Amino acid sequence: MSSQSEPKRPFPQPATGHTKSFWRTSLHPLDSHRETPDLPSETDILIVGGGYAGASAAYHLFPENQTPNPPRVVLLEARELCSGATGRNGGHLRPDLYSITAQYIERYGLEAAVEVVRFEISHMKEIADLVAKEGIDCDLTFSKSFDIYLDAAELQKKKEFVDYLRNQNLDFMDDVKYLSETEAQEIAHVRGAKGGFSFPAGHLWPYKLITQLIAIAVSRGLNLQTHTVVSEIGQTRTAEGFWPVTTSRGTIHARKIILATNAFTASVAPEYSKAIIPAKGLCTQIVASPGAPYRHLPETYAIRHGPGAYIYQISRNDGSIIVGGASWTFKNDLEQWYNNTDDGTLIDKVETYFDGYMQRTFFGWEDSGAEVKHIWTGVMGYSADSLPHVGEVPNKPGQFLAAGFNGHGMPVVFLSGRAVAKMALDSVSFGETGLPKLFETSRARLDPVYDDILG
Ligand SMILES: Cc1cc2nc3c(=O)[nH]c(=O)nc-3n(C[C@H](O)[C@H](O)[C@H](O)COP(=O)(O)OP(=O)(O)OC[C@H]3O[C@@H](n4cnc5c(N)ncnc54)[C@H](O)[C@@H]3O)c2cc1C
Repeated sequence: MSSQSEPKRPFPQPATGHTKSFWRTSLHPLDSHRETPDLPSETDILIVGGGYAGASAAYHLFPENQTPNPPRVVLLEARELCSGATGRNGGHLRPDLYSITAQYIERYGLEAAVEVVRFEISHMKEIADLVAKEGIDCDLTFSKSFDIYLDAAELQKKKEFVDYLRNQNLDFMDDVKYLSETEAQEIAHVRGAKGGFSFPAGHLWPYKLITQLIAIAVSRGLNLQTHTVVSEIGQTRTAEGFWPVTTSRGTIHARKIILATNAFTASVAPEYSKAIIPAKGLCTQIVASPGAPYRHLPETYAIRHGPGAYIYQISRNDGSIIVGGASWTFKNDLEQWYNNTDDGTLIDKVETYFDGYMQRTFFGWEDSGAEVKHIWTGVMGYSADSLPHVGEVPNKPGQFLAAGFNGHGMPVVFLSGRAVAKMALDSVSFGETGLPKLFETSRARLDPVYDDILG
């Protein structure tokens, strides 16, 4: 059966309060918003999806100095603004310098892999510049990130790869420092650590960043329509060159479309049903008892329990910890996460994993009384070959996609959103966007040769 004829996945229902993420505890006035009471019947550019990718595209479609006749742009979001993965993630802005890089080098060569690393690193400055320029209040904080290994064999293998990269004279590897077992325990304070690495990273409040970007775009002319589900995009354009788009509130005709639909891409572009798969993950906020002693951990973390088994963690400036992952605890139970779009429920097998997590993981937290205060799930768009899909949808002129950002969108999505905005607005080619070549969506990638999701 061809992917074109596969049944569409039902769109997920809005999340219940049960798994409300910490980031969405204080809502922006645009969270549920319709700029016009009715959906316009026609638009120049339609953005589908109000997460990081949709917000970045919207922001870049409305530059500060607009042309005299700016395009009509409508953004449709199925639920509340930033209620998908971006509003439910770990807030970790952490470029990957040497982890998945090994796989990219093996498959595509050093040059292509390094292009991805440099692209991710560039997000640190891009986001810093953006936040400064627009005066965005999103708790953006830069710090060192510790990459800690509890398994000596895995550490040794990684150390050999890091040494290989160093020998390629890559400037960014100067920022990667090795930590011995003693340093990993005494400087990073992780119990049972065998060693690790450190390098620069950051963290932020994703919901605040996205809602403020959207607010800027709305102030410059974006028509935001939340609680509007796109159910279908017509197979052909009208004689006037518009794609008919069926929504829960009627039909809108769009000259160009930007799909910022991440995990749910196949629900509107069924040809992506093998390439981008919804995958559910879990995240928590942990808080120490009021007045109890605990060690402030200004760095961010990845703590690796063995190959493919890790935890990601940031410390917020208020002292609380955002920590998630632990997917190895439920990976074998596919129903719990694979092709699962229900972020209104938790994941049984990992629900209690984070109870006592800080006490058993870190020196200095023994008497903290730390407890899970918020726990939530979110749905990622896993791509079969681990790479995002960005660019023009094959055989659909005027439809662009920025999706499939896995569990690693923060250092990838902002410039991907800018790229599709440029493609839609200025008709630039993918090659002219400056994106890594490997990100380009293509007919070939719709029938993936790799299955990195199930391994
Ligand atoms: C639990 C968890 C933890 C994570 N932690 C991190 C982290 O710490 N660091 C990191 O880099 N990445 C992390 N990620 C991944 C990161 O959040 C994502 O890669 C990124 O947010 C993707 O942004 P997006 O805009 O593409 O997707 P989303 O934020 O999911 O936005 C897509 C939006 O499109 C809407 N939509 C989809 N289909 C339709 C339709 N048919 N009609 C209307 N609207 C539609 C959805 O409702 C959704 O709001 C995590 C993800 C999860 C779930």
